[in-house]
Amino acid sequence: MTHTALHDPSALDAWRSLPIKQQPEWPDYAEVERVSTELSQLPPLVFAGEVDSLKHRLGEAAQGRAFLLQGGDCAETFAGATADKIRDRVKTLLQMAVVLTYGASMPVIKMGRMAGQFAKPRSNDNETRGDVTLPAYRGDIANGYDFTEASRTPNPQRLLQAYHTSASTLNLIRAFTQGGFADLREVHSWNKGFASNPANHRYERLAAEIDRAIKFMGAAGADFDELKRVEFYTGHEGLLMDYERPMTRIDSRTNLPYNTSAHFVWIGERTRELDGAHVDYFSKIRNPIGVKLGPTTSSETVLQLIDKLDPEREPGRLTFITRMGAGKIRDALPPLLETVKDSGALPLWVTDPMHGNGITTPNGYKTRRFDDVVDEVRGFFEAHRAVGTYPGGIHVELTGDDVTECLGGSEQIDEATLATRYESLCDPRLNHMQSLELAFLVAEELEK
Ligand code: PEP
Ligand code: MN
Repeated sequence: MTHTALHDPSALDAWRSLPIKQQPEWPDYAEVERVSTELSQLPPLVFAGEVDSLKHRLGEAAQGRAFLLQGGDCAETFAGATADKIRDRVKTLLQMAVVLTYGASMPVIKMGRMAGQFAKPRSNDNETRGDVTLPAYRGDIANGYDFTEASRTPNPQRLLQAYHTSASTLNLIRAFTQGGFADLREVHSWNKGFASNPANHRYERLAAEIDRAIKFMGAAGADFDELKRVEFYTGHEGLLMDYERPMTRIDSRTNLPYNTSAHFVWIGERTRELDGAHVDYFSKIRNPIGVKLGPTTSSETVLQLIDKLDPEREPGRLTFITRMGAGKIRDALPPLLETVKDSGALPLWVTDPMHGNGITTPNGYKTRRFDDVVDEVRGFFEAHRAVGTYPGGIHVELTGDDVTECLGGSEQIDEATLATRYESLCDPRLNHMQSLELAFLVAEELEK
């Protein structure tokens, strides 16, 4: 395999001369440059060897032998990086993974939208309230959410705070997943502390079955040391180039560039122009990468993205995360799947059933209907079954907290209830119970 272009260090900066979208307007770029230098000297958050393992696992998922579960906040916040919240998100993902593993009888790759999901693309550069217009909130890595000029003015010091918050989040994730907490023999304990609800009860029954199976295997002499540790990966939208670029390092083993801020980074629906800065930069790093695809994506664009981002058709290199909308996926996805299948490429296909299903209630809450989320997931599986391709994973915005941000689910959250615990600064997330319910539904689809 040759990556000749990658040995040219200037290739990593070619994006600087290309059109770029969705970056903050820094008041003082000299300060950004100082911070960038500082960032580029801080230790990597992840290691290239882990990144390669993930790529290998994603390659398995692309061939129908594993399934990717990716989930977390729409926008992480610095204030939200507390032990309790991180633990409950990890627990929620572990519970979902157990449900999926049991249903699908195949390995589930666990990945948090965590430890780096701080930069947000926005529809408008500015936000107006009354007669005051200020820059839009672009995530804690760029500016503050408070609607004051001081808070909304992008501040380069936040790039460093994003790094340190990611580091402490990742440290806790590593402790939880390597230190025994994620051991499958703890399957019951992950359910503790969450409000009692029907999805919890269903989980409890499944956990009891798993317990019995483990006891049986133990009695039969199996060695469970393998169960102690769980591989858990991180991923975020690689949006803010003044963060992603300094976190890119040359791996001493291979002499190739890796983004060391996360194992996996993806390009959002709004920044995936073929000739734009993001696609160029992503084409130069060796991480497994994702691209979001909305309902207007053409087959031609998809083939061009494959040629540009995965010219060598490397297993696990490229993931397409489709976010079509429940009403559109059954029409929009199959032609893309057909074209890619005919081309011989084998990207991993993942569904994001959240971003195509946003609505705003009359009282001004951004929300999504749980039923639409479910419907898009079903449409995703139907499309893959019809074309003969692999439905390889799910990408969701969720939290372990008991929030009321998405409508429906068996708790029947309605428009009036949304206000009671709406905490997201950006898109609405599934709460703990809705997340588990969704996992059971996906498990049923995987069993079909
Ligand atoms: C997101 O994942 O939060 C997001 C902005 O998604 P998309 O790029 O699909 O709109
Ligand atoms: Mn979002």
